[in-house]
Amino acid sequence: MSKPKIDTDERQSPLGAIIADMIAADGPMPVDRYMALALGHERHGYYMGRDPFGRAGDFITAPEVSQMFGELIGIWCAAGWQMMDAPAEWNLVELGPGRGTLLADLVRACSVMPGLREGMKVHLVEMSPALKTMQAETLKRAGIDATWHDRLEDVPDGQSLIIANEFFDALPVSQLQKQAGQWHERVVGQTADGKLTFGLASDPVAPALVPSWTAGAADGDVAEFSPARDAVAREIGRRICKDMGAALIIDYGHIRSAVGDTLQAIRKHQFADVLARPGDADITSHVDFEALTDAVTADGAKAYGPVMQGDFLIKMGLKEREEMLRARADARQRIRLSKGAQRLVSGNQMGQLFKVLAVTHPDMPKPAPFNVEPA
Ligand code: SAH
Repeated sequence: MSKPKIDTDERQSPLGAIIADMIAADGPMPVDRYMALALGHERHGYYMGRDPFGRAGDFITAPEVSQMFGELIGIWCAAGWQMMDAPAEWNLVELGPGRGTLLADLVRACSVMPGLREGMKVHLVEMSPALKTMQAETLKRAGIDATWHDRLEDVPDGQSLIIANEFFDALPVSQLQKQAGQWHERVVGQTADGKLTFGLASDPVAPALVPSWTAGAADGDVAEFSPARDAVAREIGRRICKDMGAALIIDYGHIRSAVGDTLQAIRKHQFADVLARPGDADITSHVDFEALTDAVTADGAKAYGPVMQGDFLIKMGLKEREEMLRARADARQRIRLSKGAQRLVSGNQMGQLFKVLAVTHPDMPKPAPFNVEPA
């Protein structure tokens, strides 16, 4: 991603006015509540009524960059299905499927494995009515039947492969900030002239709520943690251990827990003020893969990685896939293919910021590409 400019449009959004009213009535709200409203407010939440992806939208995700992304994840799924001993019936679960592009590419690629497609049940976890409609259209064109759910808990039990690309970064984070040696919850309040502004809860939080990795932090440091992410990760691990299965989690973030304020807003491919126009900008924060790994393995599942997205895709055969597609592509398509591959793997674009974590039942062999020794 090239460094976007700051978007300075500060007119109040409809949701901004609603949040200001809530704060006037109940006092400042914790950051996680603000983020949950900004993204998921029934009427005005960022994801609820629009297609945010692509050139005309606010940001672009890996499946929209190149079909090869979903196809390589399809190959990972085919290998995962074999590692589950090729069950006659199984669930393919995707969390936050966006436009449904990844799923369509994935299913096309993994369906070449004989016997895999017949017993495959597709379950999508999605909160946005607008995106559900869009996913249904994409899957209809691809000839894929699916069932939608609001939460992972609602997906039926059974052997499962679970995929999440850029899902966890959209789940709300809480923030603490250190002040005069004590940690306070960061909250959203408002100024005298009605503008949203960050502040700190007056009472410090109970020491038991402060993550141990914050030891050594200085005054002013911010620590993020996410009960919402931990709960979904824990549910993934629990399902995999109970019924057999594996998961692939891809997101941008850091390998080790560390202090830092990573909350950000993106609007029309530019960084925006997180508080300026809630509901009109995508708000995310970096995923803490150490915390995610702890949660997903809490019930006994095994985790592999995280590895850089670039390394993962190359080991899964990106170059070979590109060559194959090039052989039957015209000149324009070839340029698209090589630009897409470049964007997915290169260190200054998506290749290093994005990480991949694989999770399996403890009795399953090492998943691809962790089963390939370095040459
Ligand atoms: N995986 C897609 C989309 C990523 S954007 C891609 O890579 O292109 C995040 C997706 O998660 C969107 O589909 C959004 O509507 C969905 N989402 C965000 N928060 C959610 C929640 N709490 N429950 C269910 N879906 C959610």
